[in-house]
Amino acid sequence: MSDLKNMNLILLGAPGAGKGTQAKRIIKNYGLIHISTGDIIRNEINSKSELGKEVQEVVSNGNLVSDDLVFKLLKSKIETSENGCLFDGFPRTLNQASMLNLEVEINKVLFIDVDDDVVMERITGRRLDPETGNIYHLEFNPPSEEIKERLIHRKDDTYEVAESRLNVYREETEPLIDLYASKGMLVKVDGNGTPSEVEQKIADELFNGVKV
Ligand code: ADP
Repeated sequence: MSDLKNMNLILLGAPGAGKGTQAKRIIKNYGLIHISTGDIIRNEINSKSELGKEVQEVVSNGNLVSDDLVFKLLKSKIETSENGCLFDGFPRTLNQASMLNLEVEINKVLFIDVDDDVVMERITGRRLDPETGNIYHLEFNPPSEEIKERLIHRKDDTYEVAESRLNVYREETEPLIDLYASKGMLVKVDGNGTPSEVEQKIADELFNGVKV
């Protein structure tokens, strides 16, 4: 198992494809460290720092935070981590891919492929538990009545913002799929099934069927 633990992986996929959901399972199953730029950015916003205020404006409009800024936030996290990282939400542009390439050696890129209509349904129904970081869906992964009240509907998960995030994804992030495929690093998994089905496919395609 030690070789799996030392692998650096990138998770690619449209917003709502299930990256966060699967990332939680991958770190649990294989002991990787989850580095989510979405989480890092949301923490910065919640801390109400000057930087946080700056990025909040950008994020709530569905736009991407500048490459330099997100990389600055990410770099401090990379520096304190060993190998065995799961990058979720980074890189999102070709430029970010070059930046990451200078810092760490990436072994594989896991692309979770989900149909567009499914993605829109998943984004608009997503709810986040601020206390545990768990991700729910009103229909597909419903929360208990007890915690329902405290769940957050992210501002960038409304229909309009989600549509523009999808457009940004197509223009800025999709080119990364061809890039990593041409380097022989891409592992594509069909993400249209249930979370457990997708988890199993990831185990089969990326971890040779091993699920610890
Ligand atoms: P991403 O990190 O790629 O933006 P998330 O993991 O946050 O995506 O998932 C988006 C929404 O879809 C969440 O509400 C989550 O509960 C739900 N979801 C994730 N994976 C599945 C799945 N396989 N089937 C149904 N709903 C899912």
